[in-house]
Amino acid sequence: MSQIVSSFAQLQLSSAMQAALQAAKFETPTPVQAAAIPPALEGRDLIGIAQTGTGKTAAFLVPIFERLREQQASPQPGCALVLAPTRELAEQIHQWAQRFGGSARSALVVGGVSYGPQYDALRRRPSLIIATPGRLVDHLERRTMSLSDVRIFVLDEADRMLDMGFKPQLDRIMAVLPKTRQTLLFSATMPSDLDAIVRMHLNSPVKISVGEQAIPPSQTDQDVYLVEQQQKTPLLLSLMGESNGTVLIFTRTKHRADRLAKTVRNAGHAVERLHSDRTQAQRRAALQGFKDGRYRILIATDIAARGIDVTGINHVVNFDLPHTAEDYVHRVGRTSRAGASGRATSFASADERNQLRAIERHIGKPLPRQAHDLARPEGAAPMALRPASADAPRRFTPSRFSKRNDDRPRVARYA
Ligand code: AMP
Repeated sequence: MSQIVSSFAQLQLSSAMQAALQAAKFETPTPVQAAAIPPALEGRDLIGIAQTGTGKTAAFLVPIFERLREQQASPQPGCALVLAPTRELAEQIHQWAQRFGGSARSALVVGGVSYGPQYDALRRRPSLIIATPGRLVDHLERRTMSLSDVRIFVLDEADRMLDMGFKPQLDRIMAVLPKTRQTLLFSATMPSDLDAIVRMHLNSPVKISVGEQAIPPSQTDQDVYLVEQQQKTPLLLSLMGESNGTVLIFTRTKHRADRLAKTVRNAGHAVERLHSDRTQAQRRAALQGFKDGRYRILIATDIAARGIDVTGINHVVNFDLPHTAEDYVHRVGRTSRAGASGRATSFASADERNQLRAIERHIGKPLPRQAHDLARPEGAAPMALRPASADAPRRFTPSRFSKRNDDRPRVARYA
């Protein structure tokens, strides 16, 4: 019978793994690790309802490497496969795998990069393959890899994978996985199409749930500015001028991300963009530059919302509200990671009122309205914002919501 543990010492991990955890400064297991690692070490199938930011990567990597280590002496040692929805998430898992895996080889199999190095990595019989579904299926079709040695299969962010339309690829992959294997599935939510996959492909899984109610971490200060579309850019520039911490900004489209980045750069800020029209190398450089502090500001579309593992983002700004309340939670989850506090600010224009209502229903409380003294669109240059004081009643100045909600460039004049 599995126990929920309160320290890594209780898990009787190998000394190599203990050293890796120490080097990563993981002193006590997070709730998802405490609940998932013991049954996973026993070889049980598992469903983990947990979001990014809860420590779920180590919750599967630790048991994977421990179990693979035990099998090393066997004539057919086998390997593990982790499927993740985005390249960024796969790359992050790969980085953690290099820290936890010791000498075990891991191969990263994602799209947007050339096949050659991936063939080479796969030929070296890696213990762990971390892949995105599309590229993995390409390799299966080219017969450049086989999944017959997979003993442990991890589906990470399974709900996101289905949202992104990867069901056909998942079916294709699961059809060729060996029937005798361990399966660990992690997902922030459990939609019915995922339930069907669980019933078909998991064997008496242990179900664990960490913060099932998907609401943003309580340490995050959340607020909203009710603005007109054309006030968003001056408001953003003003907010950026008030702080010097790291900021992750979300826009609705790639085009808006590009345009906003230009304006923010012209205003003198170190900024990069992350979205799916950029090459893999550009995306990697943007994320790395944000992580190492070269860019204080990263402007992204939702592709970046899940899985970005950058600690200490001070401020998340929803320049445009997301289409689903779940995406709001994921975006906001990029701050306040691993216990740190952060701020999440949303801009909501008249055409985003329904989204705002849906978000507030989902998180079960209204977002505090922040007052602003922005000039009307016809007015002069951006002016300083008067932050609402914590104890004064929040003031919302009803805006004259413009009917002009189109996407025409009007930000240049604020640059
Ligand atoms: P994840 O949900 O796997 O993306 O992890 C989120 C963040 O939590 C990562 O930046 C990890 O460095 C951190 N983290 C994971 N597990 C622990 C732990 N046991 N102690 C401290 N930090 C952790």
